[in-house]
Amino acid sequence: MTATTHEAASAAETLEVLIVGAGFSGLAMAIRCRQAGIGPLRVIEKGESVGGTWRENTYPGAACDVPSHLYSLSFAPKADWTRMYAPQPEIQAYLRETAERHGLMPLIQFGTTFSGARWDEARALWHVETDRGPISARAIVSGMGGLHHPAYPDIPGRASFAGPAFHTAAWDHAVDLAGKRIGVIGTGASAVQVVPEIAKVAGHLTLFQRTPPWIMPKHDHAIAEATKARYRRVPLARRIERARLFWLHEVRAFLGFTKVSKLTGQAEALARRHLAKAVPDPALRAKLTPDYRLGCKRVLISDDYYPALRRPNVTLETGAIARITADGVITEDGSAHDLDVIVYATGFDVTASFARMNLIGRSGQCLADAWVEGMGAYQGITVAGFPNYFMLLGPNTGLGHNSVISMIEVQVRHVLDCLTALRQGARAIEVRPEAQARFLDRIRARMADSIWQAGGCRSWYLDEEGRNTTLWPDSVVAYRRSARRVRMADYRLG
Ligand code: NAP
Repeated sequence: MTATTHEAASAAETLEVLIVGAGFSGLAMAIRCRQAGIGPLRVIEKGESVGGTWRENTYPGAACDVPSHLYSLSFAPKADWTRMYAPQPEIQAYLRETAERHGLMPLIQFGTTFSGARWDEARALWHVETDRGPISARAIVSGMGGLHHPAYPDIPGRASFAGPAFHTAAWDHAVDLAGKRIGVIGTGASAVQVVPEIAKVAGHLTLFQRTPPWIMPKHDHAIAEATKARYRRVPLARRIERARLFWLHEVRAFLGFTKVSKLTGQAEALARRHLAKAVPDPALRAKLTPDYRLGCKRVLISDDYYPALRRPNVTLETGAIARITADGVITEDGSAHDLDVIVYATGFDVTASFARMNLIGRSGQCLADAWVEGMGAYQGITVAGFPNYFMLLGPNTGLGHNSVISMIEVQVRHVLDCLTALRQGARAIEVRPEAQARFLDRIRARMADSIWQAGGCRSWYLDEEGRNTTLWPDSVVAYRRSARRVRMADYRLG
């Protein structure tokens, strides 16, 4: 398929839909819009290629921590994933091939950053600002996600470090790490992947840990050629494998990772055995043992992280960082850790990512102001006062237990229903404030006894006030039930 002139809008034309971001969400939305004949349609993307987070995170060892047959679009299947957990280049290639196969490339305007949008009530359209000029669109679908503003720690003296210093999400491939003294700050999902790779080449690696993560065995493995051939020949076999993985996560991980239950204790015991097997030294093991409940922070999976920490060229430093100097890191006990390179594996500024969307809605209200009491959206997708604006992977739709791709697919379905209402004659579709309030009350009630609030830790899932505005507090099946089809009574058509 190639894009028709109808779909590829000229610069001055009002788009039917503008999609922001060419990652998993934006591409999924664009494919479905094309299939539904929606256009003119354009995707703007700040980078120079598709892939979103999978384009940006190129640190050594970057890979998915959800099995690939599950972490892929159901309507863009791939039979020949090479590993159980595909590495980043393979996922990015998958997204590029998917975009090409579905004829999306001519619709994507690369190198274009969304800087804000203002709703024009009289004309019922959005005036969008980008660094490459304005765009008009009847509807905007944000595929920007929340994990793309690297968070740097607020450590005194950070700017004074003399050597190269970079974030895992902005890896500097020009820096040769071989033989160097490298400091890694942070021990989250990115760190457990990058640390084993750095440890292989570093002269010395000092890992600065503030909180030890819970880590389960990964059991990653190459997928046999015969299995790939079978999945190619018999698509049903691949679909069965996907369903098996989905239900495994949906039941076991949901019950064990989202609320304190018997399964939480069992998962903790498994993780402790994993640690004990890999780290016989009791002092090191003690440093690596979490003191909060499993699931409170994202549960990590790795088979090579603990062994990496046993290497003679690796030190696990648990003293708090006092400051950074030109030469390295000083911990609060006064010890100086001289370094050549600092790697920040310190995660993302999720709340700021959403709040920074400079969006002015129907009554001149800014989205950030609508969210002074915390981020929130109906089904995580729409916000009262912001007609014809839809978010994919918006507030409260992240997951700690299953593949977020399944959430994206539900949201794409929901947005398509809304776009269809616009095609059928409505000028605007906007969630009713009372429907949004009801939805958010339901979320907050479910959140109260979740492991993220009650598990004894502080994570990026919570905002400054301690509210969880990032994760969905229920199963994927429950989200499907809640959001897949639009309840028109919850929306106002203008
Ligand atoms: P993260 O989970 O937010 O971890 C950040 C780490 O930096 C934590 O260990 C944190 O310690 C530490 N840190 C932050 N500020 C610090 C400071 N001032 N001093 C010392 N330590 C500090 O970030 P991430 O590892 O990049 O992962 C973010 C999310 O991205 C994940 O939860 C996941 O959703 C996604 N991700 C997914 C994959 C995948 O395989 N699919 C891979 C990577 C990332 P504390 O724990 O004490 O706060």
